[in-house]
Amino acid sequence: MKKKPRLGGGCKLCNQPTEKFSKSHIQPHWLVRDRAPTGDFYVISSDDPFKRQQRTGIYDFFLCPTCEDNSSQYDDYAASFFRSADQWKVEMPHGFTFRVVLSYDYRRLKLFMMNVLFRSAATTQAFFEAVKLEPTNFDKLREMVRSEQPGDIDDFAVIINMRTKFAGLERVGEAPKRFTDEDGNSWYRFDLNEFPCDIKTNCAPSNHSKELILKPTPPLLIYEGPIALERMERLRKTAIDRVEREQAQCVIDPKFAKVGTPQLD
Ligand SMILES: [Zn+2]
Repeated sequence: MKKKPRLGGGCKLCNQPTEKFSKSHIQPHWLVRDRAPTGDFYVISSDDPFKRQQRTGIYDFFLCPTCEDNSSQYDDYAASFFRSADQWKVEMPHGFTFRVVLSYDYRRLKLFMMNVLFRSAATTQAFFEAVKLEPTNFDKLREMVRSEQPGDIDDFAVIINMRTKFAGLERVGEAPKRFTDEDGNSWYRFDLNEFPCDIKTNCAPSNHSKELILKPTPPLLIYEGPIALERMERLRKTAIDRVEREQAQCVIDPKFAKVGTPQLD
């Protein structure tokens, strides 16, 4: 897994020559820590040829220290965002479970996601080899990440999904997978622990799951899935009041309660 630091050449993000490359995690180290908090070995993927066991996640040496240090604010924000998931509102219209996030920092969350896409596309690590952007899209992404511009909703659009907390999969992470939406745009699904995140690879308009796309103003809707039986049982017992469910009906339009897992290519 270890890879020798590259000698010579410039930083992949700012293009400036650098004498020293930083150790850059492609997906942040906190993802691995959250997944394997006891420090047990973490299996990055169950699929050959990517079967790996390591403690820190996959990293590369391709950014200068300035670019690497600067991106840590986005990693830190994303860690606090995802770790506060227990506080997100749960809404259950039409037999589906959604989370409603009423407050978030669009700029930092979006730039975290764009950093993940950029690093996955820029690294030569085999685990991320499926992630390929057209050169014009890659250049656009690099420039936006470098200048810390999160863009608008269609620019490298992001959809955050949620799945029921690991059930026997605590040690398994999956390589990014590509899918194509109904408008012909390519997306990648990144396995960020219990939050599979979809990131579009261009700035073109898209009608794909529009209501779920991360946008500058709250609320953010996160699709979790059909209502789990144990949750229904818990709801009955704790008698979540009718008013909250009625509010949910107002927030979530029935037409996209049908959203599901996209077909991965
Ligand atoms: Zn740099």
